[in-house]
Amino acid sequence: MTEQNNNNPADQHGVILSHLSRRDFWLRLPAPLEADFCREHDHRAVDGFNSMIGSVALLYFGLGAALVLFSGISNIGFWPASYAVFMVLIVTAWLLSVADVLRHNYQLYMAALVSVAVGFALIHPSIIQGSEMYYLVHEGTIFVMVIVFLGLNLLLPWALMATVAGVLIATTAVLAFDLSVDWTMTASTFLGGALLGMVLRYRDERQLRREHLHARLLVLDNERIQALANQLERLSFLDGLTGLANRRYFDSSLDKAWRSCQRDDTPLTVIMLDVDFFKPYNDFYGHQRGDQVLRDLAQTISAQAVRPQDMVARYGGEEFVVLLPAVDQESAQQMVEKILHAVRQRNLPHEKSACADHVTVSAGVATRVPQPYMHAESLVAAADAALYQAKRDGRDCWRRGAE
Ligand code: GH3
Ligand code: MG
Ligand code: MG
Repeated sequence: MTEQNNNNPADQHGVILSHLSRRDFWLRLPAPLEADFCREHDHRAVDGFNSMIGSVALLYFGLGAALVLFSGISNIGFWPASYAVFMVLIVTAWLLSVADVLRHNYQLYMAALVSVAVGFALIHPSIIQGSEMYYLVHEGTIFVMVIVFLGLNLLLPWALMATVAGVLIATTAVLAFDLSVDWTMTASTFLGGALLGMVLRYRDERQLRREHLHARLLVLDNERIQALANQLERLSFLDGLTGLANRRYFDSSLDKAWRSCQRDDTPLTVIMLDVDFFKPYNDFYGHQRGDQVLRDLAQTISAQAVRPQDMVARYGGEEFVVLLPAVDQESAQQMVEKILHAVRQRNLPHEKSACADHVTVSAGVATRVPQPYMHAESLVAAADAALYQAKRDGRDCWRRGAE
């Protein structure tokens, strides 16, 4: 599966499900899910770190002071100097967090700080040899390693790299300054702490990644449901045969247009259209040809009402309705004549029509400036009455409704 395919929601859904069903040893997720996970993880890691680093610094300072003041240990040797090195690292991390630098490359900055901390933690016991703090500091290595792997939200590869870098720093220092190392103690504290941290972090990160995939699945499912709901809503407003707005949508649009024209004190026009002698057309040419005529007329009428606020709907059967906000009587007349003309121009043969040799429509027009005491339905009723007057007057013509 290519990266490009994985960006497609449907494909990504499948990739996630298959990944979740496998029990991979490797933590890495398929691209681009891995990048998503890392971005989100770092975001949370930075927020977590920023919120805790201040209290960690205070706590470290307090613990150091308490150790010296209350532990009864009298020979602390070089311990204050090495204590200060960790303090510098903690304060540096604090400053980076305050300056919001970590947000841009959390893993790299943190791994750099951690490698120095690990390196120093490893040589720390060698420096303070002879002090009563010696064993305490050795044991402190365990805490350092647990914090490295669990407390800082470093991703496992970064934590491992930082640990290896720390070991290299310590080895260099041991060789350069000819420090003596208690290998047994170092092995049991450092290695013990590192292994424990690694195993726990591996389990933790695996779980985090699985949770990320489950969360992504939920998002994809929600998007799919939303898309279906939108499609359903769109379909519920459309007429299946002609693709025009349906009666339901016309009713709600009429209501909105009525209120908006009332607010703006502008006229609203409704044109009702009905195909002439359509029953004989169906009887003669068949229902399917009749359907084709309705589709054709839908297009012809729509092509005339082209302003964004104009709306053409199928009102029912072989009736169409045109809603024209901010159109006065004069413009309404031009519009209805344009529609009737366009229908005649289509020249769709109709042998059984008593008024022409092609398909024609009759129309009723009504225009009103909406007033608070009027109802929108009265405008439609007036256009309807005018339409039937046009039918009575011979069809293939239009009439205006009463004011
Ligand atoms: P008039 O000129 O008075 O309007 O006569 P008419 O025959 O058009 O009117 P009538 O109301 O008697 O008939 C309307 C016809 O429209 C009857 C019906 O079969 C047809 N019709 C309604 N809906 C559809 C449709 O979706 N497809 C097709 N093919 N015909 C339809
Ligand atoms: Mg009719
Ligand atoms: Mg008709």
